[in-house]
Amino acid sequence: MGIRDLWNILEQVKQETSLADFRGKKLAVDFSSWFVKCEATPYTNRSIFYRIVDLMSNGITPVFVFDGPKSPEFKARKRGESYFRATSQWKELLNEMGFPTLYADGEAEKACAQLNSSKIHLYELSAIEEKIGIGQKEMIAAAILIGCDYHKGVESVGREEFKDLLKELRNNEVPDIIDRMRGWRNNPEILSIIEEEKKLNTDNKKKSAHCSRCGHLGTLPRHSKNGCSHCNTPKECNEKTEDSGMAPCSCEFHALERKKKPFLTELKVRKAALCQPCFPDEKDEEIIFEFMSKDESASNCIDLMLKTANYQNVIEKLTEQFGVIADDTKNFFPALVKMVLYGQVRDLAITPVELLRKCKKDGEPCYLIKFKQFEFDAINTENVYKIKVLQSVIDSKFPELTPKDESKAKKDQGQTQAQAATSKERKRGKNDDSRQSKINNFFSSKKNKPNRKASDNTEDLQSLKTE
Ligand SMILES: [Zn+2]
Ligand SMILES: [Zn+2]
Ligand SMILES: [Zn+2]
Repeated sequence: MGIRDLWNILEQVKQETSLADFRGKKLAVDFSSWFVKCEATPYTNRSIFYRIVDLMSNGITPVFVFDGPKSPEFKARKRGESYFRATSQWKELLNEMGFPTLYADGEAEKACAQLNSSKIHLYELSAIEEKIGIGQKEMIAAAILIGCDYHKGVESVGREEFKDLLKELRNNEVPDIIDRMRGWRNNPEILSIIEEEKKLNTDNKKKSAHCSRCGHLGTLPRHSKNGCSHCNTPKECNEKTEDSGMAPCSCEFHALERKKKPFLTELKVRKAALCQPCFPDEKDEEIIFEFMSKDESASNCIDLMLKTANYQNVIEKLTEQFGVIADDTKNFFPALVKMVLYGQVRDLAITPVELLRKCKKDGEPCYLIKFKQFEFDAINTENVYKIKVLQSVIDSKFPELTPKDESKAKKDQGQTQAQAATSKERKRGKNDDSRQSKINNFFSSKKNKPNRKASDNTEDLQSLKTE
C-alpha cells in the first residue's frame, strides 16, 4: 500500500542480501511499484525489461503481482486511466513470456524487499512483527495515520509518533489498534483524562508551590524545618528520585500527570486524528476493509510454473509495443539459458559447446561457457551465447565439460577438498550461515498449498514482495 517512510520504520530489521541469494527461487514482484519506479526514468519499458532480465540472469522466476479484479476504487482513483492501460499491456506480455502472474487481493506477504541494483534489502515479516511490533493491523494503522499511496494520513503524525504509539499501546496491552482507533472518540479511559484536564483548565487553578527537593506540596525551607507529610518525615524531606519508591504528590496537577503518562502519545495522535470531522472516515474504512479482507481463492489456483513461450512473438512485442531496442532484447536469450541452468525452465534444451575459461562473478568461481544459440532466437547473430556460469552448476549438470586435469585432481583429493570446503564454510562465519538459513526458512515457510502438488518445482514457492 506504499506506506510513507515505511523503509525507515523497518530499518532495524533490514538484512542485506543479493540477488544471488535468491538463485533458483521464485520472487513475487509488485508490478505496480516496479512500474511507478521505472516510470520515473526516461526509458520506462526498457527499465522494466532490464529488471526482468536481471532476475532471469540470476535464475530467479519473477511471479508478477497485479492489482486484482476486485481492486478497490481508491486505487483506481489514484492510478488513473493511463496507468491501467500500460500495466495491462505489460501483464499481457508477461503472460506471453511465460511468467506466472497473480492478484494482490490474495494473501499477505511473508516478507518484503527492496531491489537496488544487485543488492536486496530484505525485511522478514516475522522480524517486523517481533522486533518492531508491526503486524497486518499495525501496517493498516500506519497507512491511515502516517499516510500511504492512497491516503494523505493524519497531519503532524509521522513515523516517530507512530513508533511511540505502537510501543505505548503494547505497554497498555491494547489488543487491536484498529478497534482502538475506531473507539477513540468514546473511549471512557481517555475521555476521563480529557475531562479532568478540561476541569483544571476551566477552574483556572494555580499549581501550588512544590518543594524543590522532594517534589511534594510545600516549599524547601518549610520542609527543612517542619518535614513533609508525603515523605512522612518530622524534619527535612527525601531527595526526589526516579524510583517509584517515593510517595506520589497528592495535588490535582500531579495526579492528572500520572494518569496521562501511559497515554501521552496516544492522546497526542488521537487529538490530531480527531481534528478530522470523522475518524476513521469513509476512506480510512475503505483501506481497512481492503487490506483486512483475504481472498484465498485468487492465489491458490494460480499455476506458478514458468511456461515456455512463443519467444519470437515476445521479442516482436517488446520491440514494437514497448520500444525495447534490439540491443536490449539480445540479453533475453542468454538470461533464458540461465533460467534453464538453474532449473526454473524445464522444457527447453540448452547445449553447451565449449568451456572457454575459468572466471569469477561476484567473487564466486565460474566458467565462461559457450552455449548454442536457441533456434527461435532471430536476434543474436553469433550462433552462440557466451555466459558465465557457477562452476558448481556445470560440475553437476555438464560434468563432461569440467576440465580433465581438474576432475582428476578432484577425484584424487576429494576428501581433502570436502574438508577444506567445510572449514571454509566455518570461516565464512555464523552471520552468513544464519542469514542463508533465514532465507531458506522463509522460502520454505509456505505449506499446504493445493497448487504445490502440481509440481515439485513449487517447493520454493514463497511470497516475497519486492519494491
Ligand atoms: Zn520537600
Ligand atoms: Zn516530600
Ligand atoms: Zn503536586
